Amino acid sequence: MEKYKEVIECVYNDVKNIDDIGKVASYIPELAFVDANSFGISITNIKNENFGIGDFETKFSIQSISKVLTLSLAYKFEGAELWDRVDVEPSGNPFNSLLQLEADLGKPRNPFINAGAIVICDVLVSHLKNPKADFLDFCREISNNPTLNYDEKVAESERVSGFRNVALCNFIKSFGNIKNNVEEVLDLYFHTCSLEMTCKELSQIFLFLTIDNFTTKKGEKVITESQTKRINAIMLTCGFYDESGEFAFRVGLPGKSGVGGGIVAIHPDKYCIVVWSPKLNKKGNSYKGMLFLEKFTSKTASSIF
Ligand code: GLU
Repeated sequence: MEKYKEVIECVYNDVKNIDDIGKVASYIPELAFVDANSFGISITNIKNENFGIGDFETKFSIQSISKVLTLSLAYKFEGAELWDRVDVEPSGNPFNSLLQLEADLGKPRNPFINAGAIVICDVLVSHLKNPKADFLDFCREISNNPTLNYDEKVAESERVSGFRNVALCNFIKSFGNIKNNVEEVLDLYFHTCSLEMTCKELSQIFLFLTIDNFTTKKGEKVITESQTKRINAIMLTCGFYDESGEFAFRVGLPGKSGVGGGIVAIHPDKYCIVVWSPKLNKKGNSYKGMLFLEKFTSKTASSIF
């Protein structure tokens, strides 16, 4: 941890004062209220040692980072049959695009674009008695953190502005790939996106994808090793909208970003690192987050390649 800590302090100070060319997401009105200059980093290693700097203990909206958590639970329920409902190919299109769905007959390209995550939420609605409460319980359990919660204001803001997501869900349903009531599926989807966490909490919850043979405090396995491998692979190839190639090229770690400005990156068997800086580049990824991680993996020579 000492080696990482020194590099994090040094790169944090380097990147902190760089002129940020990005913009805070405002298409979900509630997200625009965030302090645009927030900047936090947290790293947790496989021994559960943690180091953080800057605004690493401030809660923020994790947005699409939650798509990894919903996928994990749906994969646990369905196993390989899940891939009949959603593919594992990078889309090369913006996260909220409807374009490919028509040619692909309602089967989304991957679980990390909105279309795919909505199908994943449909799978969860089929399996869970109380989808919102049960999914929250799953997150609390794998992170051993009973304080995790949704931000109802953000969920409501998504609901009133989510015309594209409503369109996506209805369009997919027209192909038969949404089995439940559209309102119920979207209610779960909007809530999962509204989950709020700090950088520190995020770097802890994602240990289940970082550590081989991870078990919860109760001694239960979350997903199998093979499922962990596959989810990490999808993060590497599809975790950063239509900039996934660029992220792999510059940072070299599997990860996932969200329009709240958070980025989670995983070095399997070593650490999980999280950066939060709300100003986004044109592709929707945190501008400073990508810059920080590129410098961090270069200086520590700790990408997966
Ligand atoms: N709630 C956002 C949406 O549905 C998630 C976008 C994201 O973080 O990629 O548009």
